[in-house]
Amino acid sequence: MIIHLKSNTPTDTIAQLAEKSQSIRLTQNGVDILVTPSALKEVPDYLQAHTKESFYMDSDMQLSSKKYMNGKRTLKLGEVTIGGETKNNVMITGPCSVESEEQITACAELCVELGVKVLRAGCYKPRTSPYSFQGMGLDGLKLLARMREKYGLAIITEVRDSTHIDDIIEYSDIVQIGAKAMYDQGILRKCGSIQKPILLKRGFGTTLQEFVQASEFILSGGNPNVALCERGIRTFETKTRFTLDLCGVAYLKEYTNLPIILDPSHAMGYAYGVADLTRACTAMGIDGLLIETHPNPKVAKSDASQQLNFEEFRNLYKSIEPVAKAVGYQIV
Ligand code: PEP
Ligand code: MN
Repeated sequence: MIIHLKSNTPTDTIAQLAEKSQSIRLTQNGVDILVTPSALKEVPDYLQAHTKESFYMDSDMQLSSKKYMNGKRTLKLGEVTIGGETKNNVMITGPCSVESEEQITACAELCVELGVKVLRAGCYKPRTSPYSFQGMGLDGLKLLARMREKYGLAIITEVRDSTHIDDIIEYSDIVQIGAKAMYDQGILRKCGSIQKPILLKRGFGTTLQEFVQASEFILSGGNPNVALCERGIRTFETKTRFTLDLCGVAYLKEYTNLPIILDPSHAMGYAYGVADLTRACTAMGIDGLLIETHPNPKVAKSDASQQLNFEEFRNLYKSIEPVAKAVGYQIV
């Protein structure tokens, strides 16, 4: 249950009420809020006198629920706004990893050429093998910061673990929490303590409930700026890297108030399917797309098989505007 307290509730009373009801306490737009365990079905007597408004949720999807906030939250990614009433579908692109100044500059220039406003690349890669390329680390972050200065692009990059999270927060405009880090409590809680937008990817073995609950750690920490990213889940199928859960996207659209960004690149795992899948994603009426591009995918140091070369990306980019339009959206 979410309880909005009356504005005259004294601070020490709020603290006592929070403790008694085992609630998480936060303040949003000047309103003091208690988020109680979802098992609580009615406002208890001791809280009645202090309650301005209450919202009952039947699960721990609380702050993210449409039952709490009917409609979609707005989210600012650099100069682009998504969610709310905007009907904006933001294109986010860039290589899987920052590999060199030359490579990331080429990707940034592709963004500028096409009017893409958000550049994405990883510097700390959560690889499944310690012998694969691990990312450029801080040097990569510095290159991304240079791209922002030089080209005015908003930068999104991934936090792999909490050892470098302060650097990620310092250098990025948007923090990406990857599929493997979705359960990392240190990362989730830290992201809840800041106000930068967070792109939370779904773990490939997680249910929608677990995915949305991960976002609740960020929201209940006091950061309302969260987007959910579906990037494919693991099924019995092995011909594609993962299976993009578009049914899950329909569920998230129906029941949550968070903007939704889709990542066809990691779902498919192969460049050949990414354009078709992107058009299918766009037809869902979503808030953003994340597509991996590389000046020469054959030599990419991570996710080589799924990254689009620039010509493939240009063609894809041209083809999605009419699809977006058909469902009342525009690509920004
Ligand atoms: C990535 O975005 O490059 C990445 C590692 O994705 P995911 O966390 O979805 O596997
Ligand atoms: Mn990747």
